[in-house]
Amino acid sequence: MSDCIFCKIAAGDIPSKKAYEDDLVYAFHDIHPLRPTHVLVIPRQHIASLAHVSAADEPVLGRLLSVAQKLAAENGSTDGFRAIINTGRVGGQEVPHLHLHILGGPEPVGPMVKKV
Ligand code: 5GP
Ligand code: ZN
Repeated sequence: MSDCIFCKIAAGDIPSKKAYEDDLVYAFHDIHPLRPTHVLVIPRQHIASLAHVSAADEPVLGRLLSVAQKLAAENGSTDGFRAIINTGRVGGQEVPHLHLHILGGPEPVGPMVKKV
């Protein structure tokens, strides 16, 4: 999608600190890291969110998850990590291109969500 910031990052039209890439996904360091390890993994193709996937997307969805452990370990999170996919308004998604957050570092990430 031409006006999507993450499509532009995957295409190399907007600079990013690359962590990994293959035929299906592109991974890069979050511009505002919340933990020592904070990598985003995105499909190369534009998928707006996890609320927009179909069975045809299963290969790329599997790849998003299967690269997570490698990216976490390579980027300072060798003893576990948290994977998050914020989805839509209720999920707090800010960028409307599906992305998997990989959060970690030497210390525990902390509580899963704050009590409201
Ligand atoms: P969301 O809230 O949509 O799940 O997360 C979007 C994430 O993308 C945020 O953590 C934000 O810091 C990150 N982000 C937004 N714009 C850019 C950008 O241009 N470059 C990089 N590297 N990260 C970005
Ligand atoms: Zn996009």
